[in-house]
Amino acid sequence: MFIQEVSIEINSNCSKDEVYQEFNLLMSFYRDNGQTQGRIESQYIDKNKITALPYSLENNSLAEENNNVYVNKWIEKIQTLSNALISIKTIGKTMEDYNGCCTCEKSDFYILITNYVSIESPVTCGNCNSNVALYNLPTYYDFGYMPILNWETNYQSCDRLQMNCQVGERWALNQMQKTDSALSKQGIQICKRIEELTKVPTYYFLYNYRKHKSSDDNRPCPICNKKWNLKNRMHFYDFKCDDCRIISTISANS
Ligand SMILES: [Zn+2]
Ligand SMILES: [Zn+2]
Repeated sequence: MFIQEVSIEINSNCSKDEVYQEFNLLMSFYRDNGQTQGRIESQYIDKNKITALPYSLENNSLAEENNNVYVNKWIEKIQTLSNALISIKTIGKTMEDYNGCCTCEKSDFYILITNYVSIESPVTCGNCNSNVALYNLPTYYDFGYMPILNWETNYQSCDRLQMNCQVGERWALNQMQKTDSALSKQGIQICKRIEELTKVPTYYFLYNYRKHKSSDDNRPCPICNKKWNLKNRMHFYDFKCDDCRIISTISANS
């Protein structure tokens, strides 16, 4: 991922803490619009300068053409308060060979998937298996992508519980691997809406963990009960039902 430096020099008499708070809000608007990833921004004040260092999927994620109305409004507000212009520049990337997210001209399908450590996009491309920047999708709701990001944090909270093992492990696992759980219903609904908006088939990733791996191979689709094994493993997926729009893996447990 790329690391961006967003900063402003305060050239007015307004309170630095006030600008800091507004800057904080700007960071959350960037996040809700899919332009920055995670909540890791290392925002700080040094003399008259406020700086934040968010992660982004693309070099130009924070380019004006990707902004929504809230981002633009807050940039203007901060600039007026500070009597200065916000500066945005890319200062580095996490891995030398990181080349950005999906650039497929047209994806054959998308997948809604995340996990408890991910700060990437919860939408990936079925062709290249890379992240799809949310701001490249049609606006989902209220100029941004909040419902998708809410599902993402709900999923991550369940995944965290099942990884930590001691509190609500079984409950969390059921949320993640049953198709009729509140979590899965929310995710499947989001997939339907993304598909309506983009006309790209969108699959819900169904977590699969079983005590006994044997018999998992022939397990039918949990919604329609039909065979859903992929002939060849695709990326890391073993099951895919084109009727029910769900995709899954054989249990890693042996
Ligand atoms: Zn792609
Ligand atoms: Zn099915």
